Amino acid sequence: MVNSLQQEYLSTGEPAADDAKRKGAVVFRLRMQKLRGEEFYLSYDPHASQLSHENNKRLIVQAHDFGHDVVPLRPWADAPTVSPQNPLNKSASLRTLRIQLGRHVDCRSAGDAEVIDSLEDARTFAERLPQWLSSEPQSPLQVEFWGCEPFTQWPALEYLGSFFAENRSPVEIKVITTGCVLDQNMISWLERLQVLVVVRHDGPAQKFNRGEDVFDEPVKAENLRQLYQRLNPTGKIRFCCRLSGYNHSLSAVKEYLAAHLGCRAQGIPLTTEEMLFSGGEKDCFSGPKAEADPTALRHALFSEISHGMAVHAYSIKEKLQDFYRSLAYERPSSSLGQFCAMDREDSLAVDLKGNALTCPLASAREGRAIGHVSDYANIRLDTAWHWSRREECPRCPVLQLCKGGCMKLEGEEWRRACDHRFAFHLPLFAAGLYFLTGGVLREIEGKVLRRPDLPGVIPVVHPGVLG
Ligand code: SF4
Repeated sequence: MVNSLQQEYLSTGEPAADDAKRKGAVVFRLRMQKLRGEEFYLSYDPHASQLSHENNKRLIVQAHDFGHDVVPLRPWADAPTVSPQNPLNKSASLRTLRIQLGRHVDCRSAGDAEVIDSLEDARTFAERLPQWLSSEPQSPLQVEFWGCEPFTQWPALEYLGSFFAENRSPVEIKVITTGCVLDQNMISWLERLQVLVVVRHDGPAQKFNRGEDVFDEPVKAENLRQLYQRLNPTGKIRFCCRLSGYNHSLSAVKEYLAAHLGCRAQGIPLTTEEMLFSGGEKDCFSGPKAEADPTALRHALFSEISHGMAVHAYSIKEKLQDFYRSLAYERPSSSLGQFCAMDREDSLAVDLKGNALTCPLASAREGRAIGHVSDYANIRLDTAWHWSRREECPRCPVLQLCKGGCMKLEGEEWRRACDHRFAFHLPLFAAGLYFLTGGVLREIEGKVLRRPDLPGVIPVVHPGVLG
C-alpha cells in the first residue's frame, strides 16, 4: 500500500551517496533460459543496479523503454540507516501522517471492535495539532487512517477526516478498511471528501485468511457494491489482497471481486499486501492460517505476470517499473529507504492519545511508542532496523524490489518475514528479467544468498510454467 517510488533519496544538497560505503561488491550470477532451450548467463549487482552479459557487456535499460519520462540525473543522497543505536528524529514538516484508530482491542472480527477512540479524543487531537505539525506544507499532506477497522471508530474518523479536509490544503486522505461496517452516511462522506479507500479483501481466500467475508452478508455486500460504483469512476477505491495457502493467484482475486461487485474483472483496481504471514502482524482473526507454498506461489505469480494477467495490479506494475528505473539510472542501494517509508523523517505514525509509534501497525500498549507529540523534539525511532543493518538484505538479489522487510521485527520473526518477502519478490524479479531479455530465470548463484546457512544456488522458475 505504499508507493515504492517514495522510497529513494535524491540529493537535496547533501553529499551524494558514497559507493565506497557499500559493504563490498555483491554480484549474483543468473542462469537464464530462452523458451527454445538456449541458455545464457547474466550478472547482477543490486547495489550498483548493473546487469551485464557474461562478456561484461552491460545491458542498458532506457527510461523511455518503460514509459518513464527521461529526467536529468540528480546525485543520489544516502537514505538514513536507522537502528536502535542510530535512532531517527521526526520532522514537523510531514509528508505522511498515519493515524491509528481503534487498534489492538479484543475483538472477534474487524467489525466487532469496541469504540476506544472517542469523539472527544479526536477533538483534543485536532486542537493540539498546531503545536507539533508544521502549518506550511511544501507538498500535499497525506493523512491515512489505519487500525483494525477504522470505521468502528466512526465519530472520531468523521471528525478528523473532515477537520483535515477543511483546515489543511493541499491534503490527500486515505482510509484502509475491511469494508464490513459501511453505511450510506459513511459512503456519502467518503465520496464528498474524495477519500481514497483501500478495501482489504483476499478474494476466494477471504474467509479462511480473515475469518469473515463481507459478501456473505447481503446488506454489507450491497453497501460495498455501492461504494465501489460511486468511487471507482474517480479512481478513489482500491482492493488490497494477501496471497496465502488458500489462494496463490491475483487473477482469482480479481475474478472473485468482479463476480460479487457485478463488474468486469479487468477493471478491478487491485493491489497486494503480498503474502499472509502467521506470526507477523496481528490482526483481528486469530484462527489458523495457511501460508503460501513458496514454490507454487513463485510459479503462479511468474506465470500470471508474464502472461499479462497480473502485471496491471498496482503494486506489481509499480515494482517492475521501479526495478527498470533502478537499472536505467543505476540507482545505488545506499539511496534506498525501507519499503514502508516509516523510516523517513517526514513520515509519522500516531494514535489519538498522541503516542508516536514505530508504524501504524504497532501499538503503544505493546511498548511500541517512540515518544509523544507533546515532546516532539524527543521522538526517536529507535525500535527499527534499516535493511542495511540486517544480515540478509545487503546480500539479497531482490533488494531493489523489496527494499527490506518489516523494520521492527527481530529474531526468528524477522527471518520468517524475510523468507516470505523473498518468496514474493523472486517471481517479480524473474518477470522483470523475462520482459527485458526474453529469458526465464532458472537459477541464482551467489557467494552468499542472504544468509551463510542458506544454499548459495537456488532454483527460481521452470520455463514449463509458460507452456
Ligand atoms: S527479501 Fe529479505 S533479504 Fe531480501 S531485501 Fe527483502 S527482507 Fe531483505
